[in-house]
Amino acid sequence: MLNQMELHETDGVKYLTFPALEQYPQLLHSFSTRIGGVSEGEFESLNFRRGDSRENILENYRRICRAVGYDFDGLVASAQDHHTVLRYVTEQEKGVGITKPRDMESVDGLYTDVPGITLVTSYADCVPLYFFDPTKNVIALAHAGWRGTVQRIGEKMTETLCRQFGCSTQDILAAIGPSIGPCCYEVDETVREQVMQHTDLLPEELLAGQGNGKYLLDLWECNRRILVLAGIPDENISVGEVCTKCHPELFFSHRLMGDRRGGMVAMMCLKEAQSLDS
Ligand SMILES: [Zn+2]
Repeated sequence: MLNQMELHETDGVKYLTFPALEQYPQLLHSFSTRIGGVSEGEFESLNFRRGDSRENILENYRRICRAVGYDFDGLVASAQDHHTVLRYVTEQEKGVGITKPRDMESVDGLYTDVPGITLVTSYADCVPLYFFDPTKNVIALAHAGWRGTVQRIGEKMTETLCRQFGCSTQDILAAIGPSIGPCCYEVDETVREQVMQHTDLLPEELLAGQGNGKYLLDLWECNRRILVLAGIPDENISVGEVCTKCHPELFFSHRLMGDRRGGMVAMMCLKEAQSLDS
């Protein structure tokens, strides 16, 4: 275990999962570490960020697919830019952002009810939000940096799943993955002001003043409160409590490494019926 998440190692590839989501045989999910890939230098070694060679990134995808059990041909990757556009993906999008060019410009959240599609979103300190409704068999991933968080992407995803698939918020399970924690996420007055506008989140509890106009922001609790206000029961929400900046041996961190770094991916997939026994 690493705080509230399970750390796995398969054929040298290390990745994390949430115990609450592990219980569902129809679901695969993971958050990658930097361990077990083929990339070198600042990308060492399990890197998914552009700038590295395409060959290395594809081999890293093959490795995490083998380790967790995803079908490499079923991957669909987002094209994030800190907004809140959410996109429904199906068979047609298989390979998009991986082996095929991205046909999306600004997409920070992906969702599907199609088994065999693996959603992929990218990180290096921002917050990955995982969603799963076991009664409707719907999954989603959303990327929440401070901008996505104050635009309440978690609430938007919850509303979208309810509207589009008839999900009940009572049935949705959510999980908040590895990202920069309240121990390390220093922000300035500009960010603080944006957070403070959300009075329903009791924002003064989410910001710890450091002096010099700097504050430590708790993005985990901020997103957890947004999900609770969106109607997801408290007990349905897992918080990993894993800080990317505190664990440079496991993760790339933008705050720690700047632009000379690789990136991790969150992944999630509904298994196809024939593979449910394996
Ligand atoms: Zn930390």
